[in-house]
Amino acid sequence: PYKGPTYQEVRKTRAELLSPAMATHFSSPLLIHSGHMQWLFDHSGKRYLDLFGGIVTVSLGHCHPKVVAAATEQMHKLWHTTNIYLHPNVHEYAERLTSKLPGNLKVAYFVNSGSEANDLAMMMARLHTGNFDIISLRNAYHGASPYTASLTAFNTWKFNFASGFGVHHAMNPDPYQGLWGGHRDSPVQSVRAHESELIDGVCSSADKYVQQLEEVLMYSVPKGKVAAFFAESIQGVGGAVQFPLGYLKKAFELIRRNGGVCISDEVQSGFGRTGEHYWNFEGHGVIPDIVTMAKGIGNGFPLAAVITTPEIAATLSRGLHFNTFGGSPLATAIGLSVLEELENDNTQQKCKEIGTYFLQGLAKFRDKFSIVGDVRGKGLMIGVEIVEDPESRVPMNPKTMQRIWDLCKDQGLILGRGGLYNNVFRIKPPMCITKADVDFALWVMQDAISKVMEEST
Ligand code: PMP
Repeated sequence: PYKGPTYQEVRKTRAELLSPAMATHFSSPLLIHSGHMQWLFDHSGKRYLDLFGGIVTVSLGHCHPKVVAAATEQMHKLWHTTNIYLHPNVHEYAERLTSKLPGNLKVAYFVNSGSEANDLAMMMARLHTGNFDIISLRNAYHGASPYTASLTAFNTWKFNFASGFGVHHAMNPDPYQGLWGGHRDSPVQSVRAHESELIDGVCSSADKYVQQLEEVLMYSVPKGKVAAFFAESIQGVGGAVQFPLGYLKKAFELIRRNGGVCISDEVQSGFGRTGEHYWNFEGHGVIPDIVTMAKGIGNGFPLAAVITTPEIAATLSRGLHFNTFGGSPLATAIGLSVLEELENDNTQQKCKEIGTYFLQGLAKFRDKFSIVGDVRGKGLMIGVEIVEDPESRVPMNPKTMQRIWDLCKDQGLILGRGGLYNNVFRIKPPMCITKADVDFALWVMQDAISKVMEEST
């Protein structure tokens, strides 16, 4: 049982002593104090099914016993830096992790967060190519550090000071809200999918978006020579947006022709979460030059990585580069136990089965409720976009979104939110959820949506 300060006391300290930048979720934020696998417990002992834990780093499950055991064992031995010493964990981990990547992606640099990983990837790309300008996509989230905040492309995450220079945003290839529709790599297609032709695995809409990317090179990038193109293979914070089939492949080809390297941000979509592939970029038929990963890699422990080719990795040896905690014996003991458990538990296959079951259940909502505009995603990375009406696709107003969100929470279901207008429910559970959990979630969501629709009539 919870024995800490009262709910009111905690809220008071939060309001007075912690940065107001740290926004909380729900009208009455949860005071959580323990977690087990897919469950979270609040101060009153109430249990919640956590369908958002995956985004906040938990891949296997809260306090997974194997990870706890590996961490505890290492904590009794050594916590230090591996940046200036040799240690068997970091070497074994580098070997195990890089063996999961295709092509020549064989050299790792460990850091502590997704933003740090993307910062480093930006540096490597610039040093390697000798070019400065970088392109990312509108609606992308790649971090909040001053450099990566320039890659992140939502006005809501921006401040009015100069963040990293030389970053440009290309039009987002969004099959639902974008101009040209598109087929996506998902068991559930967009209602607008048929508006784009699919020939040899490439959508006609993909060609149009790649043409717009080329225009960014032509209009904004000095001599069209670019250092890098950054993309998530499914946008996370942006609301589980999937690109039309063929887009990433063609975009990568264009960027490489113009001197740049291609960077896949797998911070949210890696480690088998999307079911069919260990890395979701594989579903797009591409091999990036640099891959960044974080969150699920440590099941909740601060650990992240940049993995690249030996040639690109060599650029950083031109100067000194240091990161105290990246790849520490503790972080890598945890990373190793996560990799091992993902394999032993056949987690990727489970993500595919349970995720498809979930998506099919949610797709029925789209047919039943006019405000459920789009259901999309792969495996256990799912988005449900709520709109005012299915024709106009105007994003649902914040009050109604908040009401559905709170109603679900009151029934013991935690969902995430995302998208530019915060009108997409994001589902990224710990990867251990069961079909029974999905049935519960579908029931709660259906109840909340019906209630809100009744209230508005
Ligand atoms: N990339 C992606 C795709 C992310 O979703 C995030 C975090 N939401 C980041 C990078 C940044 O990670 P961190 O918060 O660990 O810096």
